[in-house]
Amino acid sequence: MKKSILILYTGGTIGMEKTSAGYTPKSGLLSELMSKDPIFQHADMPHYEILEYQPLIDSSNMTLKHWNVLAKDLAKAYDHYDGFLILHGTDTMAYTASALSFLLENLNKPVILTGAQVSLVQAHSDARENLIAALLLASRYDLPEVTIFFNHQLFRGNRARKIDAEGYQAFQSPNFPALAKVGSQLQAKTRLFRAQTKLPLTPYAFKERAIASFHFFPGASLKVLETLLALPLQALLLHSYGSGNLPIDDPHLLTMLRKAIQNKTIIANCTQCLKGSVQMSHYATGQALQKIGVISAADMTPEAAIVKLQFLCSLSNDPLWISQQYGLNLRGERSD
Ligand code: ASP
Repeated sequence: MKKSILILYTGGTIGMEKTSAGYTPKSGLLSELMSKDPIFQHADMPHYEILEYQPLIDSSNMTLKHWNVLAKDLAKAYDHYDGFLILHGTDTMAYTASALSFLLENLNKPVILTGAQVSLVQAHSDARENLIAALLLASRYDLPEVTIFFNHQLFRGNRARKIDAEGYQAFQSPNFPALAKVGSQLQAKTRLFRAQTKLPLTPYAFKERAIASFHFFPGASLKVLETLLALPLQALLLHSYGSGNLPIDDPHLLTMLRKAIQNKTIIANCTQCLKGSVQMSHYATGQALQKIGVISAADMTPEAAIVKLQFLCSLSNDPLWISQQYGLNLRGERSD
């Protein structure tokens, strides 16, 4: 029997048209083009239905509310479809993929996000290829996780990053291998997939929380960081150098961070490097942070690292519980 896929269409370049104000999504355009294209009616393709959101958005406008609506709609439709495609702008796709991975506990069906660098209305668009392959993957594999399909490759969503603002190879997953490649054949590394579960899907929701991040660079003003920490923050993600190192020669930094942690602000440490992991015990400039209670984002992407803080802080106010959970591999977002 033909598999049935629900396409949740949020917006993005994939269905945009050029206007005097720049590219903006056009309501109805994508479904019209898909319905006219015989490939989407091909015998090998699954049956699909489109749920188009109003208004369609450029994904730069993505918010916690959008994430909550997506998770809720998906949970509502969960039993009626074999898989789900989320059409989304590329700019915040990695954030949304991370968010949905946390929001949908015990997910046992494919949820594939895809989009395009060039609109479907243009002859050289990558949209059609991405759509076709994502639909095929969603209908062929028992893929119990949130993923991103882009330019021939399928990535675990909370491991993926947008690495190119223009090129078709827009996504990469630096710390985790691609789950599948689509060329002349569909090649999936099923042993890398998350394990199937019989537990019922448990959807969660984000709540607005005071969470910030601070990107270090030589010469970064500690006064600015101090101002940020003077706010009643629930969590702060530090973007550190290399394996999690910060300029501790200025004792003011450690004093400030220690005080914030004592005041129940969670301070997490994420590397600025594209690949590799935070290992605070390695250098003195990292160990000092570990000693005062800074927690590690390990090899999580910056997107997953911040979204995981948003997620855990939505569930609890207890810094101890949040710190413990942050250190666990909850949805495949970090190495054990
Ligand atoms: N600005 C667009 C968006 O994220 C870019 C894209 O879709 O590729 O919605």
